[in-house]
Amino acid sequence: MVQIKFDSKVLSALEGKIQLIKTEKGAIYLVGPIKLPVNLYGETVEFQWYCWLNCDEVTEDFERIIDKLSAANLAEFQQSSVLTYGDFQNEDNAIIRMHSICHTGDIFGSKRCDCGFQLKQSMKMIVDHGNGALLYLANHEGRGIGLFSKALAYILQENGYDTVEANQALGFVDDSRNYSDAIMVLKALRCKPVTLITNNPKKLKALQESGLSVSGRESLWGDVSEYNEKYLQTKINRSGHMKDEDTCCND
Ligand SMILES: [Zn+2]
Repeated sequence: MVQIKFDSKVLSALEGKIQLIKTEKGAIYLVGPIKLPVNLYGETVEFQWYCWLNCDEVTEDFERIIDKLSAANLAEFQQSSVLTYGDFQNEDNAIIRMHSICHTGDIFGSKRCDCGFQLKQSMKMIVDHGNGALLYLANHEGRGIGLFSKALAYILQENGYDTVEANQALGFVDDSRNYSDAIMVLKALRCKPVTLITNNPKKLKALQESGLSVSGRESLWGDVSEYNEKYLQTKINRSGHMKDEDTCCND
């Protein structure tokens, strides 16, 4: 393949903004930081945004990677990204959220789950804390079953199955989410311990087993309604989520 020559202005603008993270399968290319002002409950808050891409090829010659993008059809796939707030690299106490993508909850504001609420609320917790990060994990739709399968699972749920039963009835394990890439990205952004925003002990365990220094957990409950009550109860009864006093769940 003939390599396209990119304008030196393009390359110098991108220089220093792409980081290579070597993985077992190849590489993660992390691009950022990019200033991202966000409307959070009516106030404009400035986050730093990073996006990452998995690739088989491992190279420090980022021109080679950029060269592949136009043919890679990336819009057909989802990429994950991170928002950081404050001095995430250096502050002693940082809180983070590993948020699994939820097309229906995050984008449409679906009340069948509380993902949209958790997304916004965890961003607020990070800002209130003064520093932290939200990792938005694009390959985690429907706890790893994908959007189409989630639609099927919702139909089963309308026919009396709970979240766990529906996923299993479609041939999936209850929860097939993997955090290894997210953890590698997190390690590239910060070495010090983090407090994890979650009600899910599996997330806490995955992070700890990866060797990440976790200093604690903060729970995140709320937005209970008639539409997600059963879903939230399943999380507690079937998926081992921790129930805190006077509040409710998902993640
Ligand atoms: Zn959801």
